[in-house]
Amino acid sequence: LIEERPHETVMEVDLDAVVHNFNFYKSKLSPEVKLVCMVKANAYGTGAVEVAKTLQYHRCDYLAVAVAEEGIALRNAGISIPTIVLNSEVNGFEELFSNNLEPEVYNFRILESFIKEADRRGVTDYPVHIKIDTGMHRLGFLPEQLPQLVNILQEQKALKVRSVFSHLSASESWIFDDFTGHQIETLKKTAESIQDALGYRIYKHILNSAGIERFPEAQWDMVRLGIGLYGVSASGLPGLKNVCTLKTTILQIKDIPRHETVGYGRKEELNRNARIATIRIGYADGLNRQFGNRKGQVLINGQLASIVGNVCMDLCMVDVTDISAHEGDAVIIFGEDLSVIELADNIGTIPYEILTAISPRVKRIYI
Ligand code: PLP
Repeated sequence: LIEERPHETVMEVDLDAVVHNFNFYKSKLSPEVKLVCMVKANAYGTGAVEVAKTLQYHRCDYLAVAVAEEGIALRNAGISIPTIVLNSEVNGFEELFSNNLEPEVYNFRILESFIKEADRRGVTDYPVHIKIDTGMHRLGFLPEQLPQLVNILQEQKALKVRSVFSHLSASESWIFDDFTGHQIETLKKTAESIQDALGYRIYKHILNSAGIERFPEAQWDMVRLGIGLYGVSASGLPGLKNVCTLKTTILQIKDIPRHETVGYGRKEELNRNARIATIRIGYADGLNRQFGNRKGQVLINGQLASIVGNVCMDLCMVDVTDISAHEGDAVIIFGEDLSVIELADNIGTIPYEILTAISPRVKRIYI
């Protein structure tokens, strides 16, 4: 591929691997459990429309996006899977109704204005998802707000609660298992009391990818699969397939003598005569600047090479003194043989940030 398209920076997305990972997690669920696939943030950088089309073909039950615009883009592309909009705002309500998107309702402000808008349109039983804050302290009603919440829900006909859910703050980390257990218990109690008060079936869900891997007893009615779909197991579970490969090429190679510096700010002085390759990726492509000055490595012809000096906007330099490298050779930033988990670790971040930061300028190529 790179040979056919010299000097391009691309992210290859393996849709068969997405399907493999989808089925891998499905095989861990009881057959009646519904799977919500997280396609927010452009499906973690992989391309929401292509991933959602693939998931629709494979009969995914539900999707979730962060904001209305992401849901609308999916509807415009012919995706009809029920879709939750997580971070809905009052001024986006019109579009939720007209695109059949289901909001997360996380506080009284959103609840009351959504009921008002539904009433104004004469809508009844519109599906919504109630978010409970069980300890993450991000969005959601606190458990002590339950009586007031139930009162409002009982006195209206506009909305029908399809699910009550919460989000785990540390599902991948065994040191917080007691806390996670507490979150799980709190959501279970809260969801069941809302269901009892409203008198109809309401789904409850709390597990994300690492939660699915580690807390099978809390699968209940639904689970929400994000990073695992894209080939990364936060808990280190084997069996997933690599989805994303970020690639670029070497534009130029030069011999630079010892004591010269490389790149902006003259941050790195060479301590030996070196061969320096300039590759066609920079921070504007999403390659974090923190990878500069030997914090990051790339793979060239199966060998590791360190990033030298500061990462530039569109380029960066790597030390190829000890490896075989030629102008035009492919450079792997991450992929099957250089994991995005390791890469993230090197600069103290997480694979989610690395993947979602890959900029629109980088072509996604589906294989
Ligand atoms: N549910 C919610 C509310 C989220 O915000 C996210 C991701 O951030 C997920 C589920 C999926 O999490 P993961 O990618 O760890 O599976």
